[in-house]
Amino acid sequence: MIHLGSPITDLHRVGKATASLLKKLGLDTVQDLLFYLPFRYDDFSQSSKIDDLLPGMVTNITGSIELISNKKSPRRRLSITEALISDESGTIKAIWFNQPFLTKSFQVGEQVSVAGRVTESYGQLSFVSPVIEKIRSTETIHTSGLIPNYHLTASLPQKQLRLLIKESLHLVADIKDWLPQEIRERLNLISLASALKKIHSPKNYSEINSGQKRLAFTELFLRQIKSQMIKRELSTRQAFPLKFIESETKNFVASLPFKLTDAQRKSAWEILQDISRSTPMSRLLAGDVGSGKTIVIIMAMLNAVKNGKQAALMAPTEILAQQHYQTVTNFLAGYNLKISLLTRSTKLSDKRQASEAQIVIGTHAIIQEKISLPNLALAIIDEQHRFGVVQRKKILEFQNNHNYTPHFLSLTATPIPRSLALAIYGDLDLSIIDEKPAGRKPIITKIVLESKRSLAYDFIREKINSGQQAFVICPLIEASDKLGVRSAKEEWDHLSKKIFPDFKIGLLHGKMKSTEKEKIMADFLNNKLQILVSTSVIEVGVDVPNATLMLVEGAERFGLSQLHQFRGRVGRSDKQSYCLLFPTKEIIDNDKTLTRLEALTSHQDGLELAKIDLKLRGSGELYGTGQSGFPEIQIASLFDYAQIKKAQAEAAKLISSDPDLSSHPIIKAKLGEWEKAIYLE
Ligand code: ADP
Ligand code: MG
Repeated sequence: MIHLGSPITDLHRVGKATASLLKKLGLDTVQDLLFYLPFRYDDFSQSSKIDDLLPGMVTNITGSIELISNKKSPRRRLSITEALISDESGTIKAIWFNQPFLTKSFQVGEQVSVAGRVTESYGQLSFVSPVIEKIRSTETIHTSGLIPNYHLTASLPQKQLRLLIKESLHLVADIKDWLPQEIRERLNLISLASALKKIHSPKNYSEINSGQKRLAFTELFLRQIKSQMIKRELSTRQAFPLKFIESETKNFVASLPFKLTDAQRKSAWEILQDISRSTPMSRLLAGDVGSGKTIVIIMAMLNAVKNGKQAALMAPTEILAQQHYQTVTNFLAGYNLKISLLTRSTKLSDKRQASEAQIVIGTHAIIQEKISLPNLALAIIDEQHRFGVVQRKKILEFQNNHNYTPHFLSLTATPIPRSLALAIYGDLDLSIIDEKPAGRKPIITKIVLESKRSLAYDFIREKINSGQQAFVICPLIEASDKLGVRSAKEEWDHLSKKIFPDFKIGLLHGKMKSTEKEKIMADFLNNKLQILVSTSVIEVGVDVPNATLMLVEGAERFGLSQLHQFRGRVGRSDKQSYCLLFPTKEIIDNDKTLTRLEALTSHQDGLELAKIDLKLRGSGELYGTGQSGFPEIQIASLFDYAQIKKAQAEAAKLISSDPDLSSHPIIKAKLGEWEKAIYLE
C-alpha cells in the first residue's frame, strides 16, 4: 500500500532514472510530491471548435490527427514538427520546435486534445508549441481546465510530474493539519488537505485562491510567532550602550564627497540613538535600491568601534560581502581600523584573526561557523529579504564575553509600505529612507526588439567609448536546449568575439570560485573591464557608480521586482543611465509579457512596480509557499494586509498564553521545521 511516507520509487512508472530527477527537486517521498506546488496555471477551461478560433485565444480543441511529420529548419539547426488537426468544423496546423519524438508518440488518425494560444501568421491560424495529449478516456489531465505547471529539472517532463501528483492526490486525506481547527474557523481557512487538493487540481480560480490563502498563512503565522518570541526574549536582554560620539560622527559626515539626504540623516539619528541604550536595538532600515543605506550603517559601525566594541556586517552573497568590504574600507580609510573579510573561502588562520578585528564583514559564514567575536555590540544584516527571522535569532544567540546581546539592524530594498512593514516585522522598529540622493536622473528604460538590437549595440559602443560601463544580465549560466534563451557564457563569447572585440569583457556567475569573482568585480569596479556579463548573482546591492548601462537578455524571464533590482545597479551617479530590456524573440507576441515589461519603462518606483507585478500575475499565477524564491513570497503576502493583521493577532494570543509553545507541541514542531527550511536556504 502506498502511503504518505512511501518512497517515490514505490509509485507506478517511477524507475531509478525518474527518481533521481525527482530527487534533484528535493522530492523523495509521496508526501514531498504533494507539497511540491505549481508556480503557474494554464487556463484551458475554454474549449472551442476549430472553425471558431481567433488569433490570441487561449483555448483547447479536440480533433483527430490528419498529418504529422518532422522537418529541419535550414537557418537555425532546429527540428520542426508540424501536424494538422481537424474536427467536424475545420482544420488547424500545430507546430513544435525541437520535439521530434512527438511523431513517435502521436500517429495519424488518433484523437487528441490540443491546448495553447492561437497565433496568426500570413493570414493563417496555428498553435505554436501547444500542449497535446491523447484522449484515452473521458478525462484529460493536461489540456482542459486549469492546468498546474511545476518547476522542473532538465529532462523531467511536465506531463510526467503532473501525472504523478495527480495519481497521489487522494493521499492528501491522510495529511494531519498542524493548524488548530479553532484558528482555522476564526480565520475562515480551509484544511491543509483540502488546500493541497485545490492547488493541484482546481476546478476554478476561487479554489486556487482559497488553497493559496491557506498555504500562505503558514508563512505569515509562523513568522509572526517567531517574531513575537524574539521580541519577548529581547526585552529581557542587556545590550552594550554605544555612546553617540558627536564630534567623530560630524567629522565623518563632513569628510564625505556628498551631502547626506534628509532621510539618511533621520535614519542615522534613529539608529545612533537606539544603540546608545542598554536594551538591544532591533531595527529594520528600508530604502529602495540606490537610496544610500550603506553610508548610514557605516556611521553606526564607526560609533561602535569608537566605543571600543566590534561591529559585524553580513551580506547574502560573497560578491556583495566583498564589495561591502571594499566600500567600508574606503570610507573609513582615515581611521586606521582593523577590518576583516570573512566568507566561506577565508582561510582558517584568517578566520581566527577576525575575532580581533574591529569590523567584520562577511557572508552568513559569520554566524554559521561560530566565529567568536568577543566584543560584538552591533550586528547588521544587509538585504534582509534573503535572510529571515531565524538568522536574527542566531544573532541573538551570539553572546560574548560580557554577556550582552548585540544591537541588531537589518537592511532591505524590498519595497514595503510603512504600515505593512510594521505588521510583518512585528518586533522590529523601522527607519525608512524614502528619497534618493539629489541629482539622480530617472533611468531611461526601453524594450528593445530583435530588429533594433544592432542599433542598441551602436549606442552602447558610443557610451563605452566615452568612458562608461555596461552590465549584461542573462537568465542562464550555460547554454541550454531551451529555445532562444541566452546564457551568460554564450553571450560573453558572442559579445567578446563578434560584437565588441575592442572592449574588455568579463564574465561572472555563481558557480565561479570566489577568488575569480573577486578579481572580476574588482576589475569592473576599476574600469579595467568595460562590460560585465553576468547571471542574476549581480542582483543584490552591487555598486559600481561608473556603470550606466544595464542590458537584460531574456527579460521576460525575470519578475518585475527583480528587474527593478537589476536596474538599480545603474543610475548610481549623476550621469544619465539606461536600462535596455531584450525579450526573447519567440515570446514577444505574448501581450501580457510586453505589458509587464512596459511597466518598467514608465515607472521608477519599486513599490509601485511590485503592486503592478502582483496585479498582472493575476490569479493564474501562484506564489511560492516554501519551495520557491523567498523574496517572492514576501512580496505576495506583504500586500495581503488584512491577513497579516490576523496572523499577528492569532500569534500574539498564542504566545501570551503559551510563551514557549509547550502546550502546542504540533505548532512547535512545525515552527522548528519551518526554521530549518528557511535557515538552509
Ligand atoms: P543602497 O541603498 O542600494 O545600498 P548604496 O548605499 O549602495 O545604496 O548607495 C548608492 C550610491 O550612492 C553609492 O555609490 C553611494 O556612495 C552613493 N550615495 C550615498 N548617499 C549619497 C548622497 N547623499 N549623495 C550622493 N551620493 C550618495
Ligand atoms: Mg546596498
